[in-house]
Amino acid sequence: MTAVRIDGRELALKVRAEVAEDVRAFGQPVCLATILVGDDPASHVYVGSKHKASHEAGIDSRDHRFPSDTAESEILELIAELNADDAVDGILVQLPLPEHMDEPTVLRAVDPAKDVDGFHVQNAGLLYLGEPFLVPATPSGVMVMLAEHGVELKGKEAVVIGRSEIVGKPMAMLLLAQHMTVTICHSRTEDLAGHARRADVLVAAVGRQGLVTPDMVKRGATVIDVGVNRTDEGKLVGDVDPGVFDVAGLMTPVPGGVGPMTIAMLLRNTLTAAQHRRSQVAVSGS
Ligand code: NAD
Repeated sequence: MTAVRIDGRELALKVRAEVAEDVRAFGQPVCLATILVGDDPASHVYVGSKHKASHEAGIDSRDHRFPSDTAESEILELIAELNADDAVDGILVQLPLPEHMDEPTVLRAVDPAKDVDGFHVQNAGLLYLGEPFLVPATPSGVMVMLAEHGVELKGKEAVVIGRSEIVGKPMAMLLLAQHMTVTICHSRTEDLAGHARRADVLVAAVGRQGLVTPDMVKRGATVIDVGVNRTDEGKLVGDVDPGVFDVAGLMTPVPGGVGPMTIAMLLRNTLTAAQHRRSQVAVSGS
């Protein structure tokens, strides 16, 4: 068996075109503000891509970049200003923040109505309660991929490897909401392979090259590789060994799989935030 490749680039273009269309139909300006602290080269590239994609979708953006020795209070002040600015619909704080900053404090300062990354406790709580509003972009992109390929979820086994707030936990919640039987594995899991082999949908979100090997995958399973790792030669690879393509039924490549979907879903979240806020303003103003 050779797995069918899920083409994240093509699907992301489709989602981005749909968002652009919906932004036009919305008929009001939509604006995303990003905050980047420090000089991590990858973060600068990611933020640059987010601005480019925003503009292509007709979303305005504001780019706030600070040196790594910036005080946390300065970032909190900016977040307060952006929260109060009616022209700003979405606020994104690029992670990681420098070590002297407390990530939860900074992320929780963002108005939950503008929290387009879906990291605020309120949005995490809504997802947990089965009332999702702004959901982290990477796992919601995975759900779009599964839907696009008509993957059967209800009653099936999902195994998510990784339990971060950004990917693993929200991923598990989204799969559970689709009535899958979900197992979350992590660094302390005993017999990872035994769990993984039961999966009809296996999601790897760890950040370790070659973690998932062909013997860990059920024949015909859907394998989603969220991991992004750079080899010594500078090549981008995922967490899943390429040999898994011979066992899986459907699989995402790295690069060109989950990554492009993340930005597309961020744009979708920004429009959702704008639509929601404007409808709230309309209600309170009427
Ligand atoms: P993280 O470091 O916060 O979490 C990693 C998780 O993996 C932890 O929960 C840990 O328990 C688990 N883990 C570590 N070693 C393990 C092992 N040997 N066996 C089983 N589990 C193990 O990372 P994250 O932010 O969740 O990101 C995970 C990966 O996904 C990274 O490679 C990251 O770059 C990538 N990522 C990609 C995108 C994208 O858009 N493609 C977005 C976010 C993250």
